[in-house]
Amino acid sequence: MKFVNMLTVLLLFMMIIISCRGVNYEDYVIFTNANFWDGHSLTILSNSAMLTHNGIIIDILDMNDPDFPDGAVVIDLENRFVVPGLINAHGHVGMAKGLVTGSSVHTAENIKEQLALYARYGITTVVSLGDEPLIAFDIRDNTDFASEGLARLYMSGPVLNPSTPEEAVNEVSGLMQYSPDWVKIRVDDGLGTREKMHSDVYAAVIETSHKNGVPLAAHIVNLEDAKGIVESNGDLIAHSIRDRPVTREFINMMLDKDICITPTLTREVSVYIYAERPAFFDDPFFLAGVSPEVLEQLTEPDVQQRYTGRAADYFREALPLAKANMIALHNAGVRVALGTDSGPPARFQGYFEHMEMEMMQNAGMNPIEILTSATRYAAECMNLDENLGTLEPGKWADFIVVNENPLDDIQNLRNLHSVYIGAQAVPQVISQ
Ligand SMILES: [Zn+2]
Repeated sequence: MKFVNMLTVLLLFMMIIISCRGVNYEDYVIFTNANFWDGHSLTILSNSAMLTHNGIIIDILDMNDPDFPDGAVVIDLENRFVVPGLINAHGHVGMAKGLVTGSSVHTAENIKEQLALYARYGITTVVSLGDEPLIAFDIRDNTDFASEGLARLYMSGPVLNPSTPEEAVNEVSGLMQYSPDWVKIRVDDGLGTREKMHSDVYAAVIETSHKNGVPLAAHIVNLEDAKGIVESNGDLIAHSIRDRPVTREFINMMLDKDICITPTLTREVSVYIYAERPAFFDDPFFLAGVSPEVLEQLTEPDVQQRYTGRAADYFREALPLAKANMIALHNAGVRVALGTDSGPPARFQGYFEHMEMEMMQNAGMNPIEILTSATRYAAECMNLDENLGTLEPGKWADFIVVNENPLDDIQNLRNLHSVYIGAQAVPQVISQ
């Protein structure tokens, strides 16, 4: 009898210990004393704190009314500014290393280095729109981005280039084994140097992609092709329109079908800017993320020569119109998502996203519009808004901490204090 009692006491004692351990408050991280722009509001929530659990946002709380769990890890942000992690809706990973392309650079290591570079500049998610090495799918599916300090990766895989509707169906079906997040095509005759994809072919690509539940992004150059893509129910116009002003008819089509655009203004810049040594080669914020060899190569006369000629002239001259069309679409209510086309040679990942946002500001968008474009809109446009794009309960705690208010001037984003992905700090953040 005595023995049974002792056993009961022991069991009760063990149950108490186990129940006390049910909540591990160390899984909670609270970021205190910050000014939050959550991706939705028109103003900043000052003197606030964000409670996270296992990398997910639980709530944003008023510091005056703190109801924090005891024992949580507290990180004091010392009155700095917090905005959602920046999302590049049109980048590329693993295509190049410096100016080198081809299979020698198609490595997992190179892809991870590039995702780390994006993250160090505050770009916490990248949608890579095409021509990544296939190993990138494996990285997308099997990486803990938060603990490795890497930008989250979404991707389309090989850019499809079928020449008949039958080929289109086959190519899309073949790609589906990799579960691409997007399908990517180019509708572009290379300024008259090659045949352009016909409308019946891209219509078949779009239809087959949609049957598989995957949206389509189209590289285009001119208004006519952008119109064709929208008419055929494409889901993203992946560059600006560069041949003539957008028409009311086109704007209305974009609005009716709720299609977004990624302007990639820095892509145009990258086609001609290296003909001479660009001013940004002296920008410390740029230099912190680039290898000296690449800089040297880009100032060699025979390399500079590659950035002259017909295409260079065309895109340089088209840039003012590309900006004007971006603003016309934006003013009409079309969602412009931050997209740079960074990743190919001399399109510098991380730095070009900041340059793009500064070009958007110079073109006439205000900081809150640009931040919306780089966070909430980019997430919505790329179908990532269930988990990303705003600082709201249930979403990943991906955010950047800035020393000055980015709502005053988008250039303040360069003054990065820290970057968090899934509430984990990214190492070696690059700051001006
Ligand atoms: Zn691209």
